[in-house]
Amino acid sequence: MLDDYKQEQPIIYQMMKNAVMTQKVSHAYLLDTKNSTIGNEMALAFVKYLLCPSNKTQNNNCENCMQCKKIDDMNYTELKVIDPDGIWIKKEQLDELQEEFSKKALEGQYKIYIIHQVEKLNKSAANSLLKFLEEPEEGIIAILTTDSIYQVLETIRSRCQILSFSKRKSNENSNKTTINLLSEYIHTTLFDLSNEEECQKYLEMIQAIITFIKNFEVKGKETLLYTTKLWHNHISEKENLILAFDIMTFFYNDVLNKKCNREIKIFKDEIELIHNISEKNTIEQITKKINEIMKMKKNIKINMNNALLIDKLILNMVGGK
Ligand SMILES: [Zn+2]
Repeated sequence: MLDDYKQEQPIIYQMMKNAVMTQKVSHAYLLDTKNSTIGNEMALAFVKYLLCPSNKTQNNNCENCMQCKKIDDMNYTELKVIDPDGIWIKKEQLDELQEEFSKKALEGQYKIYIIHQVEKLNKSAANSLLKFLEEPEEGIIAILTTDSIYQVLETIRSRCQILSFSKRKSNENSNKTTINLLSEYIHTTLFDLSNEEECQKYLEMIQAIITFIKNFEVKGKETLLYTTKLWHNHISEKENLILAFDIMTFFYNDVLNKKCNREIKIFKDEIELIHNISEKNTIEQITKKINEIMKMKKNIKINMNNALLIDKLILNMVGGK
């Protein structure tokens, strides 16, 4: 069951668990498994967790409910697993799935389909899947897996919640997630990392900051129009603000590392985004942004109004372009 993967993939484990606990299950997930040998197993464990009637009440692995047993035997009728037929996933495979899912009434809580190696959709199959993803039907969940996220069509990626496996590294950072690395660099005592709930808060904050940076890099000054949604809704307390500025600094440091062909230190899971931002900016622009973030961080301590602080940061960072 899902708990078996808690140690190996703590972030994804937590996100999957949280989705069920808070009843915020997405209609489509894309598992970026990075050649992990447990990618397919973990996808199936997630399915069991979604469908098992005792998922919320018992913490231990379920061993004996009918749903879990049927899934183990690949006998659960509302779960379909699609693998490439030869080198491609073909349109007929998708059509069959759609037909089957549309004619049957929902028996359990969800109908779930897994598509492995989703980068291998041929063109017409990709179009079928897109239509399926664009008009999500109540209760249907897609779980797509890939070892080559960059080969998955952007139109598919953008419709899914992406869950990136953390990669085992041979160096001393092996198995360390972004959270662990960050807390090591920042020496934060704000979050108790052994506490799942705290960890989740930290994780959500990191995600919010990454989303903010992503938007800023595209929209520039226009980000001023979205600060409530992108920033203030997520980061409001003063102590979090200092941490948020540290996280931003470390993020742009990694952009600079990438630009200078040095090793990415913390945001190893965000390599694509870091690459894109490093391509868009000169070394001078990146260092200017880091300086502006550090300068503005000092203003937190002198009690500058939060909204003004972020507005000024955006303007000063744009000025660096
Ligand atoms: Zn069960």
